[in-house]
Amino acid sequence: MKPFDNEARARESVIRAALGMAGAGLVVNKAGNVSARCEEGGRTAFLITPSGMDYESLRPADLSLIYWDDGTKQWVHSGPHKPSSEWLMHAEIYRAHPGWGGVVHTHSPRATVLACRQTPIPAFHYMVAASGGEDIPCAKYALFGTPELARNVLEALKERRCCLIAHHGVVAAGSDVSQALSLAVEVENLASMYIELLALGPAEVLTKDQMREVLEKFSAYEDNSRRLSRRESAQTRSDGMPLWKYADGRNISCTEKVKVLDENFREIGRLMADALDDAVLIGCPSEQYRWALENLAAGLKSRYPDQNPEENSRGGS
Ligand SMILES: [Zn+2]
Repeated sequence: MKPFDNEARARESVIRAALGMAGAGLVVNKAGNVSARCEEGGRTAFLITPSGMDYESLRPADLSLIYWDDGTKQWVHSGPHKPSSEWLMHAEIYRAHPGWGGVVHTHSPRATVLACRQTPIPAFHYMVAASGGEDIPCAKYALFGTPELARNVLEALKERRCCLIAHHGVVAAGSDVSQALSLAVEVENLASMYIELLALGPAEVLTKDQMREVLEKFSAYEDNSRRLSRRESAQTRSDGMPLWKYADGRNISCTEKVKVLDENFREIGRLMADALDDAVLIGCPSEQYRWALENLAAGLKSRYPDQNPEENSRGGS
């Protein structure tokens, strides 16, 4: 089978994150699992750690590739081993959140203590906003590896990037798998602090307004780091580059022409990021470069109207 976009890189990143997860003490023995998205032409696909293998002995070729088959309307597995028992949970997370490129599932001890009490982590510390909201919720219990568990986790992740899973563990997601791992580490850290805090008495929590302020500041940081992190933005398709679409919304399947187009736009992105860095360095106010970008976008819109998709698809390689 032909490799998917970013497959080789995704395999490496899963191995790195799996070792990182074990090294950070987030899992004991063979518990937990890690996955990263790779895809082609809008088809959801990802690589996940196999079931029951030691992380230290894991090689890129050991990972399971799972993708959605539009013909049979089923998830298809390929690889030398059985995928992790929670593969369906990862699959449904990727399907529901197209912008997410990595998922980490752990049984990290302190967070799991709270999960076993079905205790969400409230806004006792501003870093709880790393979840994307004002708390870290706890998904309802269901038997591991079942569609019901996948549904419960999806429900908890509706407006969050991480959650506890009752009587089980933690799930964290991110635009790539290293971000998902950082978030899983943060959840464990927060859980640890929260447990100690509870031992001193009832915990004081930040107000909704205070947390909204934190979330706004986090989102400004994220925009900035996305812009400045050029190496990362050149790596994966899921962290900024659009899937190319016809004017009627259909995905353009991945052809050589799309790949070249993709590369050219990445290069433009890098040049624009350089220009913005220079603007920041010499002290231009942000309104000024926003004005420049808006003018550029308005110019494109008037000069290049959308074409008929049939015309576009003709002659595709
Ligand atoms: Zn588990």
